[in-house]
Amino acid sequence: MAGTATAFRTIKELPLEGKRVLIRVDFNVPLKEGKVTDSTRISAALPTIRYALERNAKVILMSHLGRPDGQVVEKLRMKPVAEVLSKLIGKPVQTVQDCVGPEAQTAAGNLKPGEILLLENLRFHPEEEANDSCFAKALAKLGDVYLNDAFGTAHRAHASTAGVAEYIPSAAGFLMQKELDALGVVVSNPARPYFLILGGAKVSDKIKLIDHLIDKVDTILIGGGMQYTFFAAQGIPTGDSPVEKDHLSTAKAVMVKAKEKGVTVLLPLDHVIADKFAPDAQRKVTEKPGMPDGWGGMDIGPKTIALFNEALKKAKTVLWNGPLGVFEMDRFADGTKSVAQTVAGLNAVTVVGGGDTAAAITQFGLADKMTHVSTGGGASLEFLEGRVLPGVAALSK
Ligand code: AMP
Repeated sequence: MAGTATAFRTIKELPLEGKRVLIRVDFNVPLKEGKVTDSTRISAALPTIRYALERNAKVILMSHLGRPDGQVVEKLRMKPVAEVLSKLIGKPVQTVQDCVGPEAQTAAGNLKPGEILLLENLRFHPEEEANDSCFAKALAKLGDVYLNDAFGTAHRAHASTAGVAEYIPSAAGFLMQKELDALGVVVSNPARPYFLILGGAKVSDKIKLIDHLIDKVDTILIGGGMQYTFFAAQGIPTGDSPVEKDHLSTAKAVMVKAKEKGVTVLLPLDHVIADKFAPDAQRKVTEKPGMPDGWGGMDIGPKTIALFNEALKKAKTVLWNGPLGVFEMDRFADGTKSVAQTVAGLNAVTVVGGGDTAAAITQFGLADKMTHVSTGGGASLEFLEGRVLPGVAALSK
């Protein structure tokens, strides 16, 4: 079960014909002045919704939006999301003022085959995040069957992601299935050589992932903010770079374990450094690892880029989690960008973990050149750490 080959039911195994199909989607989209500013997540759910509609299902969608913390927050109502969905799918999308209760029940009960209802924000009720069984039952009452297509919240045991599956037949939607299949391959059945690229802010955030994957990978490339803790652990001066002093032993232990397991760890050979953490900082490239006080590491340097790109040429599987530098600032994005271009050009299975790494790859326009870019930050990290995702366990056979 744990982040490996979880046997979960899939959408095609569940008869949907003419049924009320309750679908947990991830419509947690950014809003500005009452308008949806990025509809990627809505588009991502379309294959599942269309598949259900083609089977004459009555489609009932549910999602959370923002953080209303168990209260009704007017500006976090689902109405603007329904409008965007309606445009994308070319059909009216009904809305209601609540996700449970008489109005929702009547609307769900009156749906005709091929019609769509979007329930109100699930997190207006504190019972959603508490996985309250009465609330889960009330949601389950609205559908005959349940599909979960919200991978991004699959690591949370909430009423709409886990609880509801106890009461009606359930399965994973296409988006959930795609995520689990792609991440499942790199966890349980990778082609070799297998490269793990690690970056991001902190080693402490990635230690469970390293522990889980160190037995499986051949080479680990380390960049990003986390590299400086590895250098500090070796007594190399790291200037003003972010170092987790209480994780020096963690970094040392990773190096020892890698050696024991025959895993190659490549650390940077040089750095791009800056005199402050800002886009207009003074910028320099070091000759070798380490830097003086008053300067902090912001990106991997050109020698490191060459080292990483050359090493990656022989990869047959690449898993990447964490940007290699402060890619949000153009002058410190070269490392992440160059390695992304190399990975995108490989004849290999290439999987990018969610969150900031996905944002970087999308920013460089390379998302469609990867085998898979995960949409779920926390969920993909927990999956790769080998943890059971409650939203997936709820769909297990
Ligand atoms: P994470 O969420 O752990 O993947 O961390 C992503 C963040 O790490 C991004 O916002 C990057 O800007 C940041 N990051 C990458 N490299 C560095 C660095 N050298 N110094 C500080 N932050 C970094």
